[in-house]
Amino acid sequence: KINHNIYACYISRIDLGTTLLFVDITVAKKAEKMRSEFFSNVSHELKTPMTSIRGYSDLLVQGLVHDETQKHMMLEKIQEEVNSMSTLINDILMLSRIENMDIEVEMMPMKMKGLVDEVLESYQVELSKHDITMHTDFTDLTYIGNHQQIYTLLNNLIGNAIKYNIDHGHVFVNVEDQGQAMKVTVKDTGIGIPLADQSRIFERFYRVDKGRSKQRGGTGLGLAIVKHIVSHYKGVIHLTSELGQGTTIEIILPQQSIKEV
Ligand code: ADP
Repeated sequence: KINHNIYACYISRIDLGTTLLFVDITVAKKAEKMRSEFFSNVSHELKTPMTSIRGYSDLLVQGLVHDETQKHMMLEKIQEEVNSMSTLINDILMLSRIENMDIEVEMMPMKMKGLVDEVLESYQVELSKHDITMHTDFTDLTYIGNHQQIYTLLNNLIGNAIKYNIDHGHVFVNVEDQGQAMKVTVKDTGIGIPLADQSRIFERFYRVDKGRSKQRGGTGLGLAIVKHIVSHYKGVIHLTSELGQGTTIEIILPQQSIKEV
């Protein structure tokens, strides 16, 4: 309401400089709000594993646990929480690196087949644990991009397709050469995303079901990172999902060129 009044007052002066100042303040306020929300989310996400680590380590240091099995269980729990904090910190660093558009990243030609194989290799244990079958189908194309960013994009999409799948499920990865662009499709036969949540899953820290995501090792940042990478490459994302049936995410990335220096 206050902003609206200020706006009306400035407009009546038809002063471009003043109007622009108003826009700047609004943008700055919005950015500030986002920043503070981000820090509050990060603090909250770190607090939970910290509390758990402190609790278990206190008991162990004070020598209050004598049972070896119990001791081992606590150490495993500490290790689990450290791993989840480390994933979160890596995701935050990745997000901030991508958001900082000023930094030029190294672009180089990459064989997409090799990159997908690299990602799949890292999920072998998860795949066999849940008896999930991978299906890959692609023209072996070369894409010019930043290795870490394209790897992260594939890793986050394939990781979700496995994480939110069902036992004995299937994951299909398709990379297609469209001439001026590359189309990457990751489809799963998993639990699906409710319609009401579909427009929000690309927001930072948004999870459909907090308990379920955490249990599956999620930070809520994976798709926010994907969205940033795709917009950095001026690409588009298509999502189709049906609850209990599965999810398909399609990404189209225009071919990039290597800048002459
Ligand atoms: P997380 O780290 O929690 O997995 P993401 O940003 O990668 O966070 O995804 C956001 C949310 O979207 C997840 O918590 C999950 O509920 C939902 N989601 C993402 N991908 C899938 C998928 N392939 N199938 C079902 N749900 C998914």
